[in-house]
Amino acid sequence: ESSETTRMKTMYNDAAHLFNHILVNTAMGEKALTYLHERGLDDAMIQEFNLGFAPAKELLEAFFKEKGLEHQLLRKSGLFVELQDGSLKERFQNRVLFPIRDPRGETIAFSGRLLIKDDKQPKYLNSPETLIFNKRKVLFNFDKAKSKIRQQKSAILFEGFMDVLAAYRAGVENGVASMGTSLTNEQVYLLERITDHLDICYDGDDPGQHATARAINLLEPLTKMELGVLHIPEKMDPDEYVKKYGSEKFHELAHSSRETTIAFYMRYYEQDRNLANEADQLAYLADVLQRLAKIKSPVERDIYLNQLGKRFGIEKSNLEAQLQTYATKDS
Ligand code: ATP
Ligand code: MN
Ligand code: MN
Ligand code: MN
Repeated sequence: ESSETTRMKTMYNDAAHLFNHILVNTAMGEKALTYLHERGLDDAMIQEFNLGFAPAKELLEAFFKEKGLEHQLLRKSGLFVELQDGSLKERFQNRVLFPIRDPRGETIAFSGRLLIKDDKQPKYLNSPETLIFNKRKVLFNFDKAKSKIRQQKSAILFEGFMDVLAAYRAGVENGVASMGTSLTNEQVYLLERITDHLDICYDGDDPGQHATARAINLLEPLTKMELGVLHIPEKMDPDEYVKKYGSEKFHELAHSSRETTIAFYMRYYEQDRNLANEADQLAYLADVLQRLAKIKSPVERDIYLNQLGKRFGIEKSNLEAQLQTYATKDS
């Protein structure tokens, strides 16, 4: 490891410590602390994840220069934005900070959330790519989750940091999240090395459901991990679900409401369709049968064909015949 890498990691570690101190022990952090408490995070969780608050103040430059760090390193750290005249301004201002850690548990970046929604600024702001932070390679909470993932032989992929924290609080500790982007190959490899099973638990809203479909499409040809979906009802996200129904209910959902990917698609393809209408029904069946045509196990296929036959009052032999037309077209 180059000395610059080491020094930059030390910077992030020190910054995380400072921002945590501001959140927990100072008047500047009071609003943010209340905000986090209101979102259901207690002090133990705040310390466990070393959450912080970056006030609308310039603190870091003086802090680091006092430690003898040179301007160049500050510039490269991603903790500042450089103005036209070359001066540095803090990147994170007035945001709750989630430290992003590498698999070894060292802080290599931050994601900062605004306390109050604002139309001019993004809700979440991430550190830029640096010498130590490549967002394609990072999964939030992987360092803490990895031993649980190995033990439980399964991982859960969430959309957001708050979802990972809400699940953790509910005793579901094998959760990770990508950095607000779709899943990358590198992130899949990280998981694949330690587990054969991955459940996708994205938000129950429409964007979350579309993202689930995209994630399955990306994962299926890429990985041997067995995939499942944890569906959050009422268009909520996992964090909102824990808030409304409590930890125990979420724990239950995570452990006993796993859908197969086909069951997910059968539900997903119903969205925006009225299945009492024949045209919609036909389109729905075409979508589902195309999916079923890709299943290799005849028994598994049979289960779903039986379900469809019953539900729509169609002869199974007819469903099979139509499925065959997709099977030949595909291969
Ligand atoms: P919260 O509960 O704090 O409002 P969320 O996780 O429910 O946040 P979503 O809108 O569902 O937020 O977005 C999911 C994830 O996408 C976030 O956790 C974050 O990582 C990322 N994200 C959301 N908005 C932005 C943004 N404007 N810029 C970058 N990333 C974002
Ligand atoms: Mn979302
Ligand atoms: Mn969400
Ligand atoms: Mn949320």
